[in-house]
Amino acid sequence: MSQCMLSASAASHLNEDVETDDCLTSYTYLFSPDILKDKVAFITGGGSGIGFRIAEIFMRHGCRTIIASRNLDRVTEAAKKLTACTGQKCVPLSLDVRHPQTISTAVEEALRQFGKVNILINNAAGNFLCPASALSFNAFKTVIDIDTLGTFNASKILYEKYFKDHGGVIVNITATLSYRGQALQVHAGSAKAAIDAMTKHLAVEWGPHNIRVNSLAPGPISGTEGYRRLGGLSAEAKKSFECIPLQRAGNKTEIAHSVLYLASPAASYVTGTTLVVDGGSWLTSANHMSPMLGISSHSANL
Ligand code: NAP
Repeated sequence: MSQCMLSASAASHLNEDVETDDCLTSYTYLFSPDILKDKVAFITGGGSGIGFRIAEIFMRHGCRTIIASRNLDRVTEAAKKLTACTGQKCVPLSLDVRHPQTISTAVEEALRQFGKVNILINNAAGNFLCPASALSFNAFKTVIDIDTLGTFNASKILYEKYFKDHGGVIVNITATLSYRGQALQVHAGSAKAAIDAMTKHLAVEWGPHNIRVNSLAPGPISGTEGYRRLGGLSAEAKKSFECIPLQRAGNKTEIAHSVLYLASPAASYVTGTTLVVDGGSWLTSANHMSPMLGISSHSANL
């Protein structure tokens, strides 16, 4: 039987979301509210989309956060909203994950303000749809620089400055793009596959320092820049998500809850793995070049 013939199911009311980069208007606890009490999390790209919601859910569970990205105005605005809705401290900092010195400066400021960092979420990334034939060398390199090198840079700096001596948890936000060689995504698929490999290498080398390293690979997640840029709205309009086993896109709260699990003591024996949170999407979603060309940028000359 075709997956598309199954009847649509509604999103769980326990994972409510809002589309914009704002806090949830209501919240039902699924985990103990104290599960991250007294923890400090450093979240790259925490001023928008999935990163913003991860920060919010962590803070609702007792965590204080640093949200860091290139645009200081954006993270400053986000930090105000996050503190207003959760009552927890959130420090906005500017960095570019491609430049290790900017990460070092931000991590030193985080340690000065909090005295510790327990959790690193490597969420910063850049993406767009483009066929390999039209992708400039520099466009491919830029995505590898931000996603793959950026993840390594932040992980190594946190390791040297704090995790090596105190332990820690790293969650890398990746993607399922490489699993079936997703059309128009050679740059991001390659970058994220390398991060999933890095997750295993670092889990092995750093496990003896009590550092857990895992990846989380989301499917199509509504209310995000990724969703808008990668054809989520047009897929929604064409009812393409009915072909996903769970028959819908996911939302940011669902991703944040799964990241919360990986970052929490509930996952104390979980390391070196990738948690796929995609409603089964990569198993059944379309991967055809020609229909997707209608929504891609035909070249990317970064
Ligand atoms: P988003 O809102 O665009 O988040 C990306 C964040 O990264 C932004 O806050 C951006 O802030 C920051 N960033 C970009 N380049 C940076 C750099 N060089 N240095 C530091 N920060 C940088 O996108 P999203 O859709 O929520 O995606 C979040 C994560 O989920 C990404 O890793 C993405 O690959 C992954 N993901 C998303 C989906 C989805 O459906 N949305 C699906 C699979 C995987 P600044 O511009 O201020 O730097």
